[in-house]
Amino acid sequence: MPKQVYTKLVKKEKLLDDLYKFSVEAKEIVDIAKPGNFLEIRINENLDPFLRRPISIYNLNKEKGILEFIFQVKGKGTQLLSKKEEGDFIDIIGPLGSGTFKLEEYKNIAILGGGIGIFPLYELAKEAKQDGINVNMYIEFRNKNLVVLEKEFEEKSSKLTITTDDGSYKNSGFAIQYLERDLNENKLDAIYACGPLPMLRAAKKLAEERNIPCQLSLEEKMGCGLGVCLGCAVKTANSPVDNPQYIHVCKAGPVFDSKLVEI
Ligand SMILES: Cc1cc2nc3c(=O)[nH]c(=O)nc-3n(C[C@H](O)[C@H](O)[C@H](O)COP(=O)(O)OP(=O)(O)OC[C@H]3O[C@@H](n4cnc5c(N)ncnc54)[C@H](O)[C@@H]3O)c2cc1C
Repeated sequence: MPKQVYTKLVKKEKLLDDLYKFSVEAKEIVDIAKPGNFLEIRINENLDPFLRRPISIYNLNKEKGILEFIFQVKGKGTQLLSKKEEGDFIDIIGPLGSGTFKLEEYKNIAILGGGIGIFPLYELAKEAKQDGINVNMYIEFRNKNLVVLEKEFEEKSSKLTITTDDGSYKNSGFAIQYLERDLNENKLDAIYACGPLPMLRAAKKLAEERNIPCQLSLEEKMGCGLGVCLGCAVKTANSPVDNPQYIHVCKAGPVFDSKLVEI
């Protein structure tokens, strides 16, 4: 059951010009949250903007009851959120989403991420490594200046592959190319992905061609985050053309078995 907390921003870090990491006290949420869950954050005391903004959980510090999330400034909501200072209070609902990442009994997994989609993958990699799973991580950035959290992801993976679209740092090209290359040499039990839609489509295709289970986190645009506005519908795979079926990312997701959704 999600909790609503009105809680203190204990640490604010600026990772890039438009990228912030917030740490808040939220033991009620931390105790029950799972990798892949997200939060709905109220931006303002007044009702402008009216809708809360969905942001993924980055890290759960279970010992201290501290919850961390990272967000990029996109528009009005995230701009205003970025103005909060340490000591300010924030109204957060979470953990949300019933579809979370499942580690099953896998021994050797691939985690693929790009853009803002890398953030929910940190807690997943952390828990997988704690469980003794071999974590092959592939993360993609547009260029060298946008590379963040390298040390953090390195610590939580067995092997980290960083790519930049323009080749300005580490490997050149798309992260999925490197995942596919490794897959030709080693068996992987599952693929987990979060990132831009073309990346998710490529991950789904690759996994289905190779018959590997694949879990995708869909960061669809979302209104209420609580299953009321129905703004985050995605089509289910193989539903009839004349009678398409939809599921809602906020309630059933954000993480889905790739075979269940048409993206
Ligand atoms: C389940 C979920 C988890 C998310 N996790 C994170 C996260 O961990 N970190 C993070 O930085 N962002 C995350 N997002 C995206 C974040 O919610 C949006 O960037 C934010 O709501 C934009 O609000 P705004 O008021 O700043 O911008 P708006 O004024 O609402 O929009 C500004 C611009 O951002 C675009 N935009 C709005 N929503 C999205 C979206 N969902 N995806 C891509 N573009 C969008 C709009 O088209 C517009 O161009 C997540 C979204 C979802 C649905």
